[in-house]
Parts: sequence; C-alpha cells; structure tokens
Amino acid sequence: MERALGQVEVLARTDELTGLYNRRGMMEILTRELARARRQATPLALALADIDDFKCINDTFGHKQGDEVLKGVASSIAGCVRSTDAVARWGGEEFLILLPDTELAGAGRVAEKIRAAVADGVGGVILGTGTVTVTLGVSACGDGDLDEAPRRADAAVYEGKAAGKNTVRVASG
Ligand code: GH3
Ligand code: MG
Ligand code: MG
Repeated sequence: MERALGQVEVLARTDELTGLYNRRGMMEILTRELARARRQATPLALALADIDDFKCINDTFGHKQGDEVLKGVASSIAGCVRSTDAVARWGGEEFLILLPDTELAGAGRVAEKIRAAVADGVGGVILGTGTVTVTLGVSACGDGDLDEAPRRADAAVYEGKAAGKNTVRVASG
C-alpha cells in the first residue's frame, strides 16, 4: 500500500510522454531550490527551451511523429545536464531546466550545449527534411517570486525567436 502510494506520487510529478518532471513536479523543485539558494547564498539559474516551428513539424509529419520529436528533444536535454540539475516538460513543446549552483554565464554555456546537441540530432530527432532545433532563454533566479525567473527566461526565448530561432539568449540581471 505504501509503495503504491509512493508510485502515485511519482506519477503525479512526471510527464507521461517524456518521463521528465511535469510542471507540478518542477514547481516543487523550484520552490525548494530557491529557498536553498537563498539560505546558502548560492547561485541558481534556469533555461527554457522551446522547439522551433513545432506546429509545422506536427502539420508536416503528423502528431505521432511530433510526439517522437518531443521524446528525442527530452533525451537530448537530459543528456546535457548534471544529475543535480532538474529537467521538466514545462508546456506542450517547452522544457525548463533548473541549474543549481550555476551562475548566469555557466547556464548560458549549458544552454548552448543543449542547442547544439538538439541541432546535431543527438536524441535521434533528425526528420526527413531537416533538423529539429530549439531556442533557449536563460535567466538567473534573484530576489523575485517563483514566477519571475521563468518569466524572464520566456522573454529571452521570445527575443531569440525574433532573431531567427536556433539560438540562445541570456536575460540580463
Ligand atoms: P515557434 O518556432 O515560434 O516556437 O513556433 P511553434 O510552431 O513551435 O509554436 P506554436 O506555439 O505556434 O505551436 C506549438 C505547437 O505545439 C502547437 C501544438 O499543436 C503542438 N503541441 C503541443 N503539445 C503537443 C503534444 O503533446 N504533442 C504534439 N505532437 N504536439 C504538441
Ligand atoms: Mg512554445
Ligand atoms: Mg515552439
């Protein structure tokens, strides 16, 4: 019984398709890590990755193939981070990566590694006509509330999209 309950709790925090944390699971980790970073005065950064032109991928190759792309990107991202980092499927085709003990510059390097890994098809996500790419936004968690750093990472993603996609933008401050 206890074990079954434990499994239910794990499933409630897990994204079924990719096996990553879901949004709820990531919010719990973000809450905990933000408190820890403040208590220990250590840096905490995050990166938001959004698949480029995913609607077009779905429209061209079908929803099922789209789901395979999501799984491939998920494993590419997971392969680029440390075991102490956390990766979540944050929305439909968006992934949030939480990087404890990491300054903004270091987070920018991780984001670039992820960008290159996805573009190189490390997760097996090369499609018939071209490669799958992601645009990433990076931000540091400061004194703001829980939503602030993800919001600034999202704004940075938006900048990267406007600049032509398949790129990394680091939010200042
Ligand atoms: P951009 O390069 O600006 O990010 O464009 P985009 O097409 O990636 O972004 P947009 O937000 O217009 O479309 C996101 C698409 O993601 C639309 C939706 O059909 C698809 N999507 C969301 N969740 C899933 C899912 O679970 N499986 C599949 N196959 N597609 C999904
Ligand atoms: Mg999106
Ligand atoms: Mg997108």
